[in-house]
Amino acid sequence: MKVGKDTTLAQIIKVVSDTQSSKAPIQRIADKISGIFVPIAIRIAIFTFLIWYFLATPGEFAGSLEKAVAVLVIACPCALGLATPTSIMAGSGRATEWRILFKSGEHIEATQSFDTVVLDKTGTITKGKPQLTNIILADGVGVDEDEFLINVGSTEKNSEHPLAEAIVNGITAKNLTLVDAIDFQAFPGYGVRAQVNGNEILIGTRKLMDQYQIPIETALPIMADLESTGKTAMLVATDQKYQGLVAVADTVKETSKAAISHLKSLGLEVIMITGDNTRTARTIGEAVGVDKILAEVLPEEKAKEIKKLQTQHRKVAMVGDGINDAPSLVTADIGMAIGTGTDVAIEAADVTLMQGDLNHIGDAIHISRKTMRNIKQNLFWALAYNSIGIPIAAIGFLAPWVVEQQWHLAQYPLY
Ligand SMILES: [Mg+2]
Repeated sequence: MKVGKDTTLAQIIKVVSDTQSSKAPIQRIADKISGIFVPIAIRIAIFTFLIWYFLATPGEFAGSLEKAVAVLVIACPCALGLATPTSIMAGSGRATEWRILFKSGEHIEATQSFDTVVLDKTGTITKGKPQLTNIILADGVGVDEDEFLINVGSTEKNSEHPLAEAIVNGITAKNLTLVDAIDFQAFPGYGVRAQVNGNEILIGTRKLMDQYQIPIETALPIMADLESTGKTAMLVATDQKYQGLVAVADTVKETSKAAISHLKSLGLEVIMITGDNTRTARTIGEAVGVDKILAEVLPEEKAKEIKKLQTQHRKVAMVGDGINDAPSLVTADIGMAIGTGTDVAIEAADVTLMQGDLNHIGDAIHISRKTMRNIKQNLFWALAYNSIGIPIAAIGFLAPWVVEQQWHLAQYPLY
């Protein structure tokens, strides 16, 4: 268990407060403007005093000083200085509400500018957990699907294998009540066997069926078909007779397809990267509609693929969840980790999408663009206000105590 500063909440708080106090690169522009602006404003103030004291109202010290102070007050570079941090603070606060964590202000700025998104497959586009996907009964077996599933589930519930867990969860989700099996036996790597309601149930691979001399010719083409799309099929026999099969596979998150088409509509090229064989990768990639698929990429080569894209002058965002994604998350111009993934990926990334919903990539871009537009507006208004206000103050139409209340003008709320 994690305690103290290692808890997820503590980490979120730290990331948010670091972001809010960090500088985006655009802040440097603001700082540069302030650096030129302040000495000029001071010179104008001195000049204003001299004009009033010696020319306009000779000898009138208090009045002349008042005009000079008015120039200084209106020229307060606060508005310029605050333009970026207030927007960054508002933007990252808003992002946190949407369960998006930017590691710093720099990353809020960078998120608007990438043109290519590389998505890891397992755990990013897909749920990363196997689920029961197919139930296929052999012809003329004399049982209905419910009975078949009760036999399968009652046998598999004794097994600790993750695929067995997926099968049992899939079956109990259909509101079927499993019974207690007897004589359970597991054959690691091959399958399981048990007695359910007086029948002998055998579930497993082709080899297991062969060992028990159960004919499975009719099942083979179906099985090959399922396996070609990345599914794991398990054969089921009852009392030495082949009865059907069940298949499990990792499934696509419900939100992935819509999220990917949204990213494409924003003009981004969406690429899927995976270690899976080309055929399996294509099944998933085509289902969610990515532009390009990079399959059979070894974990250590993922970062190389990102670099290759960068040498084509692309700005690349990488989205991943696993330990093996960490190098590519660091290599990419923007690394985005799925919050439901590994801590290593989150640590390596610049942005964390807490909920693992790919729609949040588009949301992050939206927040980034809005924040940047807001910063530019703030800078514009701060400068506009100063260039109008200073001459008015110098002429003597503004008293410092009136001006004092006006510089809040430049701080426009973000949304
Ligand atoms: Mg993964």
